[in-house]
Amino acid sequence: MKVLVTVKRVVDYNVKIRVKPDGTGVELANVKMSMNPFDEISVEEALRLKEAGKASEVVVVSVGPAKAEETLRTALAMGADRAILVETDDAVEPLAVAKIIKGVAEAEQPGLIIVGKQAIDDDSNQTGQMLSALLGWAQGTFASKIEIGDGKAAVTREVDGGLQTIEIKLPAVVTTDLRLNEPRYASLPNIMKAKKKPLDKKTPADFGVDTAARLKVLKTEEPGGRKAGIKVKTVAELVDKLKNEAGVL
Ligand code: AMP
Repeated sequence: MKVLVTVKRVVDYNVKIRVKPDGTGVELANVKMSMNPFDEISVEEALRLKEAGKASEVVVVSVGPAKAEETLRTALAMGADRAILVETDDAVEPLAVAKIIKGVAEAEQPGLIIVGKQAIDDDSNQTGQMLSALLGWAQGTFASKIEIGDGKAAVTREVDGGLQTIEIKLPAVVTTDLRLNEPRYASLPNIMKAKKKPLDKKTPADFGVDTAARLKVLKTEEPGGRKAGIKVKTVAELVDKLKNEAGVL
């Protein structure tokens, strides 16, 4: 079974995000970019399936600018076999990404597509769900465990107040949650080897997908700063302030 894994290039999770002065979005110039953390988990899971003999090939795909090749090379260095870059400079919205990945899936015929539950830049949490609907495939969202059986998979999902295990028919789309695994680091020899692994380049037009924006960002704001605290001398003063100033008692 071939496993297709989506990887998105996003602002590194350690970077302190700054909003652009005109409020149209966040500053991306000269900012460290990395693989979306949920996608690292997806790549790791696909590699573990391959190591367990459940998957035959791991193909990674990214939709984004030429620089997204770096992100794909990271996935190849972790151990993926092959990469596909669907190149565009547009900020591609989840529906367009899902349509493109559908096209890739039709060409590649994977038995499983592993998608991150959410991209940490737009926090949409939409792509996997839209993809499964477009393909007409089963889906298992927010997976914290994936077990592949004969033509089916058991997916344990993180739901409010606990874990739910569902059985889905393959081919399917699974979205990954944080507790699924701990992604490996790429070793230096593997980073070198990854430079020679195959990477195909396509464009959204190859899949007949228009990436023009459908949504308009009205504004982007920094979260409000926290007000400085004060020290009180007595419990009575604390109670008084909670009652008369904070209004919480
Ligand atoms: P989102 O729906 O935007 O929160 O993204 C959820 C997941 O969809 C991400 O973790 C990625 O696996 C995948 N995804 C979203 N955008 C892209 C993209 N441009 N290229 C590849 N994968 C993407």
